[in-house]
Amino acid sequence: MNQERPIWQRTRAELLRDLDCSEDGLSSQEAAARLEQHGPNELQSGKQKSIPRIFAEQFADFLVIILILAAIVSAILGDVESTVVILAVITMNAILGTVQTVKASASLDSLKRMSAPTAKVLRDGKVLQIPGREVTVGDVVSLEAGDSVCADGRLLECASLKCAESALTGESLPVEKDLSEIAGDVPLGDRRNMVFSGSFVTYGRAKFLVTAIGMDTEMGKIASLLKNTEEKKTPLQVSLDQFGKKLSIGILVICAVLFCVSVFLRQENLMNAFLFAVALAVAAIPEALSSIVTIVLSFGTQKMARENAIIRKLQAVEGLGSVSVICSDKTGTLTQNKMTVKKLYTGGKIVDASEADFHDPVQEPLLRTALLCSDATVDENGEVGDPTETALVRLGEDYGFDELTTRGKWPRLTEIPFDSDRKLMSTVHQLSGGLVMVTKGAVDVLLDRCIISAEERAEIERVNEEFSSQGLRVLAFACRTVDRAAVSLEDENDLNFLGLIAMMDPPREESKAAVAECIAAGIRPIMITGDHKVTASAIAREIGILTPGTEAVEGGVIESMSDEELREFVPKVSVYARVSPEHKIRIVRAWQDRGCLVAMTGDGVNDAPALKQADIGVAMGITGTEVAKDAAGMVLTDDNFATIVQAVKNGRNVYANIKKAIQFLLSGNTAAILTVLYASLAALPVPFAAVHLLFINLLTDSLPAIALGLEPHSDTVMREKPRPRNEGILTKSFLASVATEGLVIALAVIAAFHIGLASGGAATGSTMAFATLCLSRLFHGFNCKADRPVVFTRAFWNNRYLLGAFVVGALLLSAVLLIPALEPLFQVAQLSAGLVGAIVGLSLGSMAVIQLLKALRPRK
Ligand code: ATP
Repeated sequence: MNQERPIWQRTRAELLRDLDCSEDGLSSQEAAARLEQHGPNELQSGKQKSIPRIFAEQFADFLVIILILAAIVSAILGDVESTVVILAVITMNAILGTVQTVKASASLDSLKRMSAPTAKVLRDGKVLQIPGREVTVGDVVSLEAGDSVCADGRLLECASLKCAESALTGESLPVEKDLSEIAGDVPLGDRRNMVFSGSFVTYGRAKFLVTAIGMDTEMGKIASLLKNTEEKKTPLQVSLDQFGKKLSIGILVICAVLFCVSVFLRQENLMNAFLFAVALAVAAIPEALSSIVTIVLSFGTQKMARENAIIRKLQAVEGLGSVSVICSDKTGTLTQNKMTVKKLYTGGKIVDASEADFHDPVQEPLLRTALLCSDATVDENGEVGDPTETALVRLGEDYGFDELTTRGKWPRLTEIPFDSDRKLMSTVHQLSGGLVMVTKGAVDVLLDRCIISAEERAEIERVNEEFSSQGLRVLAFACRTVDRAAVSLEDENDLNFLGLIAMMDPPREESKAAVAECIAAGIRPIMITGDHKVTASAIAREIGILTPGTEAVEGGVIESMSDEELREFVPKVSVYARVSPEHKIRIVRAWQDRGCLVAMTGDGVNDAPALKQADIGVAMGITGTEVAKDAAGMVLTDDNFATIVQAVKNGRNVYANIKKAIQFLLSGNTAAILTVLYASLAALPVPFAAVHLLFINLLTDSLPAIALGLEPHSDTVMREKPRPRNEGILTKSFLASVATEGLVIALAVIAAFHIGLASGGAATGSTMAFATLCLSRLFHGFNCKADRPVVFTRAFWNNRYLLGAFVVGALLLSAVLLIPALEPLFQVAQLSAGLVGAIVGLSLGSMAVIQLLKALRPRK
């Protein structure tokens, strides 16, 4: 009968009985059995496109359809050979396109899986971090600020929990949760004793019992309503699409004119003229630009993932290439986040951590407080929790002050969780007879709330300064008695000061080199930290961020500044200390107003807005909250600053490679168009048959283009300044070099055409033109590798894909030219050895000229 009553109406005991589980969670066998029974905790994502469907979509292109129609018409008119070849070439091209699409989407899927959320569940009585999809009904899951809720469930424990449920209810303000049962039927937003999949925790801590997973959750019920959002196009793709459209219109006009000229002036066969015009349009319109970008970007993301940077949005790869400011957290990103307590200050004395003594009546209250006012646990399975707190707990363990016994003896009744705005955390404990609240937090914040004399305060501040200047992170501890367990923020006043604990968090070894690399690459590194200014400065100086001529300030100083003042101020500052999340947003905006593209790291719930505001939001994979990861464009699986710099390098390389592929395609197409235009103006026969153009465009051209996109990455990109924020790929100088190179290749092709015409007539002429265009474009792949000459360097050989693409293209071309059976199909004439020699010579000649032009180009 109970089963019928809604979850929120039942008592917790009833629920545990109904679901046959306990507050201590499931055993691992039971969990495995239930996982088997209920299936994975997943929303069925929108239908995956099947491979046949992807294949079919390759034909859904205006020009391809016209081409198919033309092929059919030519079959009806009796020219079956052309039909077969055209259809074969289009089919091959569609197969190539399908393979690329499937590979690209598989790599994006694997990235999505890597950034999928995790959950902390109680299994066999221990807290385990597992992938969200393995959570099952009856599991007990713990939540803290920043976690995303992975399933629906009923709260078992609740400490000031607030959840943002806007994805489900549309309500933008977080909802406060509690444990009480609710009578009657209430809407989802009022089921305060429950949490729901798809929401996230903005404040507090809790444990809940999972009652529904996957498609049975409230989110699952509306999941079918959620649009299957397609991957948005990146700015580069949008601009290439726009460019492609304009270019297509121009080309279509040229093709229409050529068609009219052939039919009306030269009285050519209507069908042939039409087929040729369509083939020219197919060959000249760079329809593959945007899909090449997708392929190169998604391969780039795979490389980055192997190097610990998971890209969540393809746009981020592009943006990374032009990042000019990196705002980084200190703790854990620039430093190791391995805290070790070094010094204590209590009872007016500084004590070395190695001399900490829990039996010393002066030290004991401070050390006990440190243990009680921490959530972290340290046991044989390792450390769970914030490193600041694990350091405190480890200190206890080191000196035989057992964490479990201590926490058992003075049980925690309530708490006010830590948040990085307030910079404090308090817990209330039952002490023999009374209630005591212990508080820890940033020294300056806590001292303001303590009852101490001015002299005492001055002395504490002096000690704090002394610790901080050694790069130590200092926490202050205090306590007071309270008359009720349900404390509020106002109770964090009139505290009794207990002491200071200072810990060391050494910089990561690779930070210094990464900072230097950033600076050499024209990127400004900036430290933004919640920590004390003196501590932050000491670390920043050590790793090279704080340099002479720049300063360290506290976040507070920017509060009184207007946006304009801040814009002028930011270049002077390298370190911001005691920063709140609002400061972060303003700092990002100020840099953006200066025209910079900003990457910003973050981990907490409150960082999400700044991560969204930044051009590249970078979330911490290890210490970051799910909320931060969700707001970010990139997640670091190792939380390491050096990984950001590496990702920037990859971003720059990916961009450079895309540029090479585009240059290759556009200049080759230009050569084809110029040749046809020339022949038309000079009243010569048509230089190519339709199948020639299709053969080159759809077969021998795609592989080098993709191969160029996969060029090996080089370090030299980090010796240049960042690309200006709004600079597109299609700059004037880029288009000028496309035109020049297109012209050089066209000249070689035209020369070949004339040689052919002179030695064997129209058929030989067009065979020569076709073969020279095809071979020069294959050679041209090597030209596009770099702005400088590569022929006699090792760089010529360093891309095996390009070498492979060249070999495949050359074999295909040889087959067409040399296998007599293929001659009629591809409309080629037999060539003498001398003519073949001319083709090779002219093609190599075009490459030599382009290499020479590159050598003569002035260096920037
Ligand atoms: P970063 O922003 O570089 O990661 P941070 O870790 O110091 O630096 P926050 O986590 O926002 O930034 O912490 C701000 C301040 O709050 C710290 O300098 C410290 O004084 C205090 N603090 C940090 N963790 C705790 C905690 N668990 N309990 C109480 N106070 C803390």
